[in-house]
Amino acid sequence: TTWAMTAGAVQLPLGRGACLSFQDVTEVEEAGQIRRDFVANVSHELRTPLTALLGFVETLRGPARDDAVARDRFLGIMERETGRMAQLVSDLLSLSRVEQDERLRPMAPVDLRGLIEGVVAVVGPTAQGQGITLAVEAPEQQIVVPGDEYQLRQVLTNLIENAMKYGGPGKPVEIVLGEPKPEPSLRGEGVRLTVIDHGEGIAAHHIPRLTERFYRVDKHRSREVGGTGLGLAIVKHIVNRHRGRLRVDSALGQGSRFSVILPLS
Ligand code: ADP
Repeated sequence: TTWAMTAGAVQLPLGRGACLSFQDVTEVEEAGQIRRDFVANVSHELRTPLTALLGFVETLRGPARDDAVARDRFLGIMERETGRMAQLVSDLLSLSRVEQDERLRPMAPVDLRGLIEGVVAVVGPTAQGQGITLAVEAPEQQIVVPGDEYQLRQVLTNLIENAMKYGGPGKPVEIVLGEPKPEPSLRGEGVRLTVIDHGEGIAAHHIPRLTERFYRVDKHRSREVGGTGLGLAIVKHIVNRHRGRLRVDSALGQGSRFSVILPLS
């Protein structure tokens, strides 16, 4: 029999304060499988752009050496692939930081309207460049939740960037902050922050899987718009850490709403 020494469901006291924890071996095997899948995914995601880069370096050394037009085009592709790898590494770091942060950073009062304004100021110029209007709707009163401001900003940024990527150029994106109200799913008062787009929407059977690492509805499309497949995994992690809920409502061809529901206290 294999006994896995991990924090598990069952704990056996061993005398003098020592304690042996173990859990069902199948659970440990599943965790191992998830880790192996994750490493395989990361490797694959990095290998694809690396192979492309190597190919272009060879072409630039050889056949395209004296062809200025080809050189320019290849350098453009190399720049894009390098950017993609940089984004992937940065998302991976975010994800591991969120996982580690769980016990480290204390929660502090976060003013959600201020947070929205801050994020819109940062993403606004890119949106404008793509002809996308960011419309904010928020109550007059200040709404404050206990949270990690840096992480909540990341949640909103990821949701708005997705709404821009999958909403499509020229389609407005709405950011709506609700009034505090009783939220049965939180067993208490909560506040809803919703990002709405008018893009392609998501088929119902994909919705439960969106927050899995590297899950994409359309891999090709996600790559094209510069996605890494990690954005919503990061969002879900942060929302869980805040004891909140993530809700996705979507209709094919009409658009999607991603709502984060955060407890008020
Ligand atoms: P990515 O980096 O690929 O965008 P995410 O984890 O942020 O990864 O999202 C996972 C997948 O969910 C995306 O690849 C896309 O297929 C789908 N998705 C996310 N947001 C939206 C949206 N607003 N509209 C339509 N599809 C979306």
